[in-house]
Amino acid sequence: MEETGIGEGPRQGPDTDPGALRDRGLHPGSHGDPGSLRDRGLHPGWDMDPEEFRASGYRAIDWIAGFLARPEDWRVLPRVEPGEIVRGLPDRLPVEGEPFDRILADFQRLIPQATTHWNHPGFMAYFATTGSGPGILGELLCAALNSQAMLWRTGPAATELEQVTTGWLLRLLGLPPDWDGTINDTASTSTLYALAAAREFASDLQIRELGLAGRLDLPPLRVYCSEEAHSSVDKAVLTLGLGRVGLRKIPTDHDLRMNPRALEAAIVEDLAAGVRPLAVVATVGTTSTTAVDPVPVIADICEAEGLWLHVDAAYGGVAAALPEMRAVLAGCERADSLVVNPHKWLFVPMDCSVLYSRRPDVLKRAFSLVPEYLTTPESGRVKNLMDYGVALGRRFRSLKLWFVLRYFGEVGIQAALREHLALAQRLGEWVDDDARFERLAPIRFSVVLFRAHPAGLVDEGELERLNASILDRVNSSGEIFISHTKVRGRYALRVAIGNLRTRLEHVRRAWDLIREAAGA
Ligand code: PLP
Repeated sequence: MEETGIGEGPRQGPDTDPGALRDRGLHPGSHGDPGSLRDRGLHPGWDMDPEEFRASGYRAIDWIAGFLARPEDWRVLPRVEPGEIVRGLPDRLPVEGEPFDRILADFQRLIPQATTHWNHPGFMAYFATTGSGPGILGELLCAALNSQAMLWRTGPAATELEQVTTGWLLRLLGLPPDWDGTINDTASTSTLYALAAAREFASDLQIRELGLAGRLDLPPLRVYCSEEAHSSVDKAVLTLGLGRVGLRKIPTDHDLRMNPRALEAAIVEDLAAGVRPLAVVATVGTTSTTAVDPVPVIADICEAEGLWLHVDAAYGGVAAALPEMRAVLAGCERADSLVVNPHKWLFVPMDCSVLYSRRPDVLKRAFSLVPEYLTTPESGRVKNLMDYGVALGRRFRSLKLWFVLRYFGEVGIQAALREHLALAQRLGEWVDDDARFERLAPIRFSVVLFRAHPAGLVDEGELERLNASILDRVNSSGEIFISHTKVRGRYALRVAIGNLRTRLEHVRRAWDLIREAAGA
């Protein structure tokens, strides 16, 4: 990458001392000659003046509009080597400020070409997401208000819009309307908080007061999830001090769903061994194959044993917005907590994860701590978001959710989800109709898992090498980005459809590239 020149702003003499400028009335936008000051790059210590903001903002928005109009102008997976960006940029910030246009020009020249484009219609890896137009603008307004909603008082609108939008989403998904929702950055955080609440729910253990370390009176504590659950469950258990042994992975059935009989047996065995079960995490839409655990039976078991039930519906939960898919959340109304990510399949830009709970009081008990300087007169009458997690500061994330929910409405959201489900079915048909390919899992949502399987090739190692090379070839095209997983030990190509800009032509192109790469 060429030397960028970033950070080599115009060097000025004594004028750059903010005090001296102020003394001489040279505050851009208020006194002196703002135009010429700006031209000379002199803005020490003051924010952009409103007119400069307006003009610069239009240019930034123009760039975004062009980018969203033609995301395919960029490679979905950039051609960039590790370390290239670092090497191409100065190792120090500029001593003096630089004009906005110069920074924007460098952004345009350097950043998009070294970005993996999640907003590209050819992005079909992991779980495809969308930073939609209304979501992007909501994010912009969020930054403008810069609301920090740790307390109701420090962000009344942010606090209450979070209640309103998470309530709307509950109703859209057919979940109990009285559940409480809070917005976190990611599902990993939401699941961590849910399991912290589960630990607090076992109040006789007094973990909030006495901790875990050095306690001889505590039995080993255990959380259960399926072998297919997301690694965020492992991380939450580790973070909560339960250790790796604190998580027991339950085998799955032929459809990669948690086997509830195996869960029951594990709990019985653990109880007999003096272990204290705390919680079960069920998944609606597992990361690898989008399997849906049998939540109604798992809820029965949790109720019988007095265990906290957390549902990870980070990806799959959104599908319940469709009446014909409502059943994916069957039994979830009996959960103690549930996470769903609007930044995955609900067109909200990163980051936005909603943690719902039937027992917000327990979540609050796990986290609430109010030093004198954060007390407010209204505290008994309002929700203070700082009480529901580790973070004190809370972004106004509900603003972008509000824009997205209102802009698309129920009908628009449903239309987009149906389109993605239909596109996945279509790809599944093409795979099924081609004897050289084999599908490796049912299509439950908008993810298709399959592999090339030439007749006569039986060695799993060879099949893996063949399909890994197909993956590489497809991804090096820059047109499409797909990922892989293993389904019961078998290497699978994984195509995830979920971006608003992905159309039939893009899925068709992905299929053509895959077939070409397979030599089919
Ligand atoms: N749960 C499931 C089922 C997921 O698929 C993922 C990520 O893909 C996560 C949790 C973690 O999501 P996040 O990136 O929001 O932490």
